[in-house]
Amino acid sequence: MEKIWLCLAHMSDAGEEMKYIREAFDTNWVVPLGPNVNAFEKDLEGLCGNGKHVVALSSGTAAIHLSLIMLGVSRGDEVICQSMTFSASANPIVYQGATPVFVDSERDSWNMDPNLLEEAVKQSIARNGRPPKAIIPVYLYGMPAYIDDIMDIARRYEIPVVEDSAEGFGSRWRGQLVGTFGDYGIMSFNGNKMITTSGGGALICPSEEAKRRVMFYATQAREPMPYYLHKEIGYNYRMSNICAGIGRGQMTILNEHLSHHRMLCDFYVEHLADIDGITVHVNPDERFDSNFWLNTIIVDPAKTGGVTYDDLRQHLDSQGIESRPLWKPMHTQPVFNGAPALVNGVSENLFNHGLCLPSGPMVTEADALRIVTAIKEAIKN
Ligand SMILES: *Cc1c(COP(=O)(O)O)cnc(C)c1O
Repeated sequence: MEKIWLCLAHMSDAGEEMKYIREAFDTNWVVPLGPNVNAFEKDLEGLCGNGKHVVALSSGTAAIHLSLIMLGVSRGDEVICQSMTFSASANPIVYQGATPVFVDSERDSWNMDPNLLEEAVKQSIARNGRPPKAIIPVYLYGMPAYIDDIMDIARRYEIPVVEDSAEGFGSRWRGQLVGTFGDYGIMSFNGNKMITTSGGGALICPSEEAKRRVMFYATQAREPMPYYLHKEIGYNYRMSNICAGIGRGQMTILNEHLSHHRMLCDFYVEHLADIDGITVHVNPDERFDSNFWLNTIIVDPAKTGGVTYDDLRQHLDSQGIESRPLWKPMHTQPVFNGAPALVNGVSENLFNHGLCLPSGPMVTEADALRIVTAIKEAIKN
């Protein structure tokens, strides 16, 4: 039996990616700038709308790092970050010598709880006599957050927002693309995300001027002189023209990918509906429009006859099906031991009961049927 993977890369049938790569070779633009980079950024700006400007970068992590540099985050500062996430959301806070303050999730979206966020802001002000330097909400597995409430709190306390929309590429909140609500937004084009450039990311910027400044830091902070003059520390974070060629090709099948991920969500909901103790995470109401990057389930052993998420994971594995536990909350990670955290039990409960199911464009309906059949077997035995 062929192995079913969580989320594999998938190239366009028309071979658009190869066409743009070949163009780059033929014109010798095999460098971290060029026509593909400019055109990919235009494509992304078209998707964002809302007057946003986009810089293509070497990774989503680099995008978060540059956003924090743009916001002047430095030693002694605090930055509020969603606890339920991948470590890449929080690591750049530490790169800047600042301290992450972790905020737990609410039950609907699994993303940052606005009430806890406000409490965290108040505590940070009490500790430091000033508000935190930034807020980083995340769109876990593609699900939008209560971003209106988060933005409202951020504006009241005058704190900039960096949306980590690495997993939410193409997701919308009340019709607006996630990543375009805050001061900055992050995209990731790693191999396992909604679209890929083999590895890469982008930063959504609020203005042309901010974009120019981000490009300056992303290319070693070189001053405009004929010789190499540096007044600030820079980074080598630009996307290569080859990777951007893949990205341009992938943009032609974004809608196809989105509908495939959503079709799989509907499939899992329909075929798992009659199984006690298995709940598929769906859009909580019509304001949410998730890309369902990874479809996720919650396993309640009290209702499955004692079968836990990890029993299920092991059974799926024995059937050649990859599944994965949900992110382990940052406030429980040894590396962030001692960081302030506002915790309500939601993220730890998700981690202790949740599983990601295969969801990419390479997962066929026949594969999905094999997956739900294996889940039913595990619970019957
Ligand atoms: C993938 C991911 C990132 C980082 O993106 P890279 O391109 O891999 O650096 C950041 N945040 C979240 C939530 C992610 O899932």
